[in-house]
Amino acid sequence: MADVRFTRFRKAFGSVEVIPELDLHVPDGSFTVLVGPSGCGKSTLLRSIAGLEEASSGAIEIGGEDVTHLDPAERGVAMVFQSYALYPHMTVRENIGFGLKLSGLPKEEIAARVEEAASTLQLTHLLERKPKALSGGQRQRVAIGRAIVRKPRVFLFDEPLSNLDASLRGQMRVELAELHSRLGATMVYVTHDQVEAMTLADQIVVLNGGKIEQVGAPMELYQKPKTPFVAGFIGSPT
Ligand code: ADP
Ligand code: MG
Repeated sequence: MADVRFTRFRKAFGSVEVIPELDLHVPDGSFTVLVGPSGCGKSTLLRSIAGLEEASSGAIEIGGEDVTHLDPAERGVAMVFQSYALYPHMTVRENIGFGLKLSGLPKEEIAARVEEAASTLQLTHLLERKPKALSGGQRQRVAIGRAIVRKPRVFLFDEPLSNLDASLRGQMRVELAELHSRLGATMVYVTHDQVEAMTLADQIVVLNGGKIEQVGAPMELYQKPKTPFVAGFIGSPT
């Protein structure tokens, strides 16, 4: 597993400075949650870890290795998106294993990893189904399965539960917490849901306009917000 470190990281799209300059450490094995209003740069940070966005300046390290200029495939991370992006014509088994086909791993290893991921996510009985015959929660589990089989050093989640209804979100929150403790992997998780942040995180990063307002444990932010913005977002109502 691995930590993630941003050092004087900057990201601009043309003349628009989305992340002016940012230093952030995501500890190894942590469940780090990025929160903040729409457009504050959460997805941009996540996509930058994945290598889907290039840094304008500064550096990103994963497990102590400078990955700033590495291709996404070389970074050892896996991303789970809000839209499940499953292949409709493939079964669950094929969907979960698809990304590994290009990896050069032996067929037997791929099959074993798919079985293991399916078992972890309670999808074993659904392996021969197509996505259209799954519920929203099951589809999201398949999307997570596609990340697990790659055995990434870091999992990246971009609002993975926002398409689910409230009761399913609650259930998936519990499953994600269990998954984190079982895998012990570093997870960076974007949400605008305060409950998700408070229940899942061991570290919350509050972003506002591409800048970090505060970083801390959920209760620390809740009880001792440093700014009115943090208080408004997470803090206890006083
Ligand atoms: P969040 O995920 O917090 O809602 P984003 O990281 O998606 O925010 O976006 C942050 C800002 O960067 C927004 O103002 C958005 O319009 C802008 N942005 C994101 N991607 C691009 C892009 N490819 N080109 C231009 N602007 C972008
Ligand atoms: Mg976003």
